[in-house]
Amino acid sequence: MAELGNPQNTIAILQKYQFHFQKKFGQNFLIDPSVLERIVDAAQITGEDCVLEIGPGIGTMTQYLAERAGKVIAVEIDRALMPVLEDTLSAYDNVTILQADILKVDIAKLSEEQNGGRPFKVVANLPYYITTPILMNLLEHRAPVQSITVMVQKEVAERMQTGPGTKDYGALSLAVQYYALPEIVANVPPNCFIPRPSVGSAVIRLTCYGEPPVEVRDERRMFALIRASFNQRRKTLANGLSNAAGLGITREQVTLALEQMGLPATVRGETLTLEQFAKLSNLLEK
Ligand code: SAM
Repeated sequence: MAELGNPQNTIAILQKYQFHFQKKFGQNFLIDPSVLERIVDAAQITGEDCVLEIGPGIGTMTQYLAERAGKVIAVEIDRALMPVLEDTLSAYDNVTILQADILKVDIAKLSEEQNGGRPFKVVANLPYYITTPILMNLLEHRAPVQSITVMVQKEVAERMQTGPGTKDYGALSLAVQYYALPEIVANVPPNCFIPRPSVGSAVIRLTCYGEPPVEVRDERRMFALIRASFNQRRKTLANGLSNAAGLGITREQVTLALEQMGLPATVRGETLTLEQFAKLSNLLEK
C-alpha cells in the first residue's frame, strides 16, 4: 500500500472509493508529510504506547502512528470510510478500527479491553465542529490518557494556551490548564489539507496532570465561578458573581474574599490566574 501522506496518493484513494467529503463530519484530510511527522514527533510515541486516534479519515496519520506505536486504536464515525481504512491499513497488524462516535465511547472501558487498563496517548487531527466537546469530555471525565496531541483551529489552540490579561483568556483556558499543560507545537496553514479549511490550524500537546496544579475543594463550584466571571466579562467580579443566578453569593461576600486575597473590589475575572480562582472558590465556599 502506497504511503498516503501526499496529495497524489490521497487523491488516488479518494477516487478509487469514490469518496465524498462530509462537511457535517469536519473532514479535512492531511496531505503534508512534514506536518504528519511533526504531529507524531510531538506526541512522543514509542513502541510501548497504545495510541487512541480520533477520526482516522482514510488512515493517513494512522499509518505514521502504526509505524511507531505498539498499538493504535482508531475511532471513526463515518461508515463510508470503513472499506477505505481496511485497505489503507491492511499492512499493519497493530491497528484496530472502531466505527463509533468518539463522544459515545467509554474510554476507561476501551483502555481495559485494549490496553490492560493503562492510559492511552491520544493523537488526532480533530473534526473542528466538536473540538471542545471531545477535549472536555476526555479531561473532565479523567479518561485514562497521558497526553493529547491534536490539530485544532489555531484560535482554539491559542485560547487553550493563553494566560490572564489577554483577550483569548477564558473558561476554556482555565478548564484545560486545570487538567493539563498545554503547548502549541506547530502552526499549520490551510494548504496542508484537502479540502482546505477556511481557518488556520495549530497542533497543541496537552500533557495531562496526575494531580491538579492547584488545590480546590469543590471543582464544580470553581468552574461555575469561572463561567459566571467570563459570562459577564466586562463587569467587576463583585458585580458579575453576585448577579449570577444559581451561585447564591452576595456582593459583600465577594468583596470580602477578594480583600482576603489582597485584590481590589474592582478586579475583573479576566485578570485572575487559575490559582486565584481556586482560592476564591475555597473562600466563597464557607
Ligand atoms: N485523521 C485524518 C487526517 O488527518 O487526514 C482525518 C481528519 S478529519 C479533520 C476528522 C475525522 O474525524 C474525519 O475522518 C471524520 O469523519 C471524523 N469524525 C468526525 N466526527 C467524529 C466523531 N464524533 N467520532 C469519531 N470520528 C469523527
